[in-house]
Amino acid sequence: MTIIAMNKNFSTTSFPWHTDQWRQIESYKDKLPHALLLTGTTGLGKSAFANKLAQRTLCPDGLNHQSRSCSSCRLIESGTNPDLLIVDSSSASKQILIEDIHEVRSFLQMTSHLGKGKVVVIHDADKMNSSAANALLKVLEEPPVGKYLILSSSATSMILPTILSRCVKIKFTPPSLPSIEQWFKQELSQLNTKNPNKDGKDLKDANSGALDKLLQDDLLLSINNSSPLSILNMLQNGKADLLHRLNDDLDDLTNFNSTKFPAYKDLDLIEIMDLLLWRTEKQILSKFNQKQLDETKPLFALRSLLLARRSMLMRKLNINRELLLEECLLAIPHLSQIPQIPRT
Ligand SMILES: [Zn+2]
Repeated sequence: MTIIAMNKNFSTTSFPWHTDQWRQIESYKDKLPHALLLTGTTGLGKSAFANKLAQRTLCPDGLNHQSRSCSSCRLIESGTNPDLLIVDSSSASKQILIEDIHEVRSFLQMTSHLGKGKVVVIHDADKMNSSAANALLKVLEEPPVGKYLILSSSATSMILPTILSRCVKIKFTPPSLPSIEQWFKQELSQLNTKNPNKDGKDLKDANSGALDKLLQDDLLLSINNSSPLSILNMLQNGKADLLHRLNDDLDDLTNFNSTKFPAYKDLDLIEIMDLLLWRTEKQILSKFNQKQLDETKPLFALRSLLLARRSMLMRKLNINRELLLEECLLAIPHLSQIPQIPRT
């Protein structure tokens, strides 16, 4: 767990699908709620939104802030604004602890240095352990005037209901396919400007082909809940390719065995579970379409099993990751074979 005054990667990028969320913020005018919770799946830019909102809250120009010429914004950019505290659990396995929330509490009790209040951003608020969550609840119960808490979470079911009920929610939803397309086009044109004629190939043409393919890539879109930043991330880190390869391997179960597993070690367990779920749900749909309703029963059972394991992973119950990985990977051929039980 890291608690830091400023994040090294302090992104305040605005994304085109944040319009409604900014509209909601603007509707509060100068009465921003004391505690906000940004919800929605990963990859929608909630962290960047939280950072930008913190910056705008502390800026003397308020929500209208455009230029970054004020001292508050300059201090934010240099990572030294004394009125901003960011709690960021830097890796998936790490927790937010009670000591961190104690620090939040004392920070909020201090007077604002620059006179625009104080802001605490807690990224991945679901990573608070139970004592941290209870400590935060106390802070929320006695809201200090002129002090703001901006929480973000992609797993709100893991947050105490008493915390949820004390936060005003700002909901983030995946943009439509045309919006995703437009955003990727923009990203690609920037890439083209930065790397013109790389390797002598016409990047624009190569990328527009890739874009067409991407928009038809149901696996990639589904696994990432159509969240543009997650899709981009998977394309950049090679996981998109890996998932497709694993998917192809699973189609050919006669040749699939445990020796293939190491090739997929870079995929997270959750990603593998999501691939299995995607395959299972597709099979269920196809059986429905073929009016083979009896055959959907084992598929539904398989789906329940996968969902239960996925939920276990999400709750991160003292799991031995190696063992679970082995168990899950070993289960793949077996699980995948269930849908293919021969008809009697
Ligand atoms: Zn400013």
